[in-house]
Amino acid sequence: MEINKLTVGPVATNVYIARKDNEVIIVDPGAEFARIDALIKPSDHILGILLTHGHFDHIGAVNELVNKYDIPIFAPEKEERLIVNPKLSFYDGIPIANINYINDGFTLGNFNIKMYETPGHTFGSVTYEIDDVLFTGDTLLNLNVGRQDLPTGSEEDMKKSIEFFKTFTTDYKIRAGHGNDSTLFYQFERNPYFK
Ligand SMILES: [Zn+2]
Repeated sequence: MEINKLTVGPVATNVYIARKDNEVIIVDPGAEFARIDALIKPSDHILGILLTHGHFDHIGAVNELVNKYDIPIFAPEKEERLIVNPKLSFYDGIPIANINYINDGFTLGNFNIKMYETPGHTFGSVTYEIDDVLFTGDTLLNLNVGRQDLPTGSEEDMKKSIEFFKTFTTDYKIRAGHGNDSTLFYQFERNPYFK
């Protein structure tokens, strides 16, 4: 799997374009549709959009991508309440229609996607595992975790999610919603929230 990363929008959100041959999945297209679109090749087959959670800075370019490519959107079922409520998501764009709410992993083309509930930043936040990569959204960041003071966030939930990450025995690549790339074992060693 090849991954292109773009950092977009007012709060520097990471968008990931994951590719296997000409099959593509877009994770958290938060803003700047044109920059994301510029990385799509004419021969690409975009299988869908994966959302780690519903905050405005992770979903802002979804409608434009769907309008151009007519692709499915997948988001955690427990995040529906947040995504559809501007007071919780801070998203003030045109409501996003036809989201496929999921509560488990699934397969898209050649992508075997596992989904783990990792609440704390928001109630419905998830981490997606694809091959050797964890897309952690705003749950696990390099040397940090996502803030827990926004609506539906919870310090207790975040502690449980951190304990969940500690159960992994493979040094996954971490591709987070903000900040630098890292690895899971590096977080075990250096992230103060894992002490
Ligand atoms: Zn967020």
